[in-house]
Amino acid sequence: MSIKKLTKQDLTKLIDALLAGQKVIAPVAKGDRFDFAPLESADQIRLDYDVTLQPPKKCFQPTWETLLTFEVAGESKAVIDNEKFVLFGIHPYDLVALSQMDKIWSQDNCDVHYLTRRKNATIVAIDVVTPSKDGFASTMGTATVKDGFDCLLTDIGDGFVAQAATEKGEALLKKAAGAKDATAQDLQKRQQVWDKNKKGLNKHELKCGPEYLPKLLDRAYDHPVFAEKAETCFSCGSCTQVCPTCYCFNVQDDVNWDMKTGERQRAWDGCLLDGFTKVAGDHEFRKSREARFRHRIYRKGKYVPTKIGGQIACVGCGRCVSACLPDIANPVNIYNRLVEDLGIE
Ligand code: SF4
Ligand code: SF4
Repeated sequence: MSIKKLTKQDLTKLIDALLAGQKVIAPVAKGDRFDFAPLESADQIRLDYDVTLQPPKKCFQPTWETLLTFEVAGESKAVIDNEKFVLFGIHPYDLVALSQMDKIWSQDNCDVHYLTRRKNATIVAIDVVTPSKDGFASTMGTATVKDGFDCLLTDIGDGFVAQAATEKGEALLKKAAGAKDATAQDLQKRQQVWDKNKKGLNKHELKCGPEYLPKLLDRAYDHPVFAEKAETCFSCGSCTQVCPTCYCFNVQDDVNWDMKTGERQRAWDGCLLDGFTKVAGDHEFRKSREARFRHRIYRKGKYVPTKIGGQIACVGCGRCVSACLPDIANPVNIYNRLVEDLGIE
């Protein structure tokens, strides 16, 4: 597969060429923050972004979507979003989260809505240029990636190294008029970026290896830290709404005014919200804030890892840390407290 060097002008022309053929979703400025949005022109793209407000999972699991339409006394018809698109500029930690979501949505009753969007996407990753104020990808081992992308870009100062990893990535690079083969010196500069990011995206540092977290949590269920932190939790759900590895949803049927037809809709939900676990008979099996708070921490460090081959379901994006008003959501602070109190066995 090709490894090319693109000047900044080459990259702008490449994005223009992509925009001529299909939807391109990329990081753009939203006030003084950033978010993924469909590009209208190449000059909107901000590849120097620190972290986006929402994770790119929304391109595959939208905040709200119609799953099917139905006739009350008749047939139903699946609604499938089949549009091809390029997701341009996803950071390595978000790419790791996306690969985790691929495993989750492919298990058991695999989800045709997610997997169709995934099949139709071309993924262009980019190594981080500007560390975010709360990111800790280095300590989680997600600061750089070797796979999961169709093409990987690295800003090396006087341009970008672009590495194709799949046929889709190769086809994309063919549109980069003016791109030259990367030289040994370009690759050396790329390695320097990787070395820097492996250590430097580390605003919070775990006191144990992430692979130890499931074992640590085996001994922590009744630890007082969950009640202490939950004391000031608003149950606002912000920490789950911004997380690239949270995927809980609610499904509801809406019948139209004609009382004959309707839609089945799916929307994001979150385990910190009161009512998330309410079932028939008004029974709620995680009614206390403490139980919901602990569940999120266990989900990241133990429950989801058991479903996806041991990978920890926190990639260190730091979004929950920035989003939580009472400053209690940082998983590193909680895991480190458990390490301090319970030790490493
Ligand atoms: S738990 Fe927080 S830091 Fe970890 S992936 Fe989710 S939002 Fe990012
Ligand atoms: S931990 Fe923070 S962000 Fe999460 S629900 Fe509680 S107050 Fe909201």
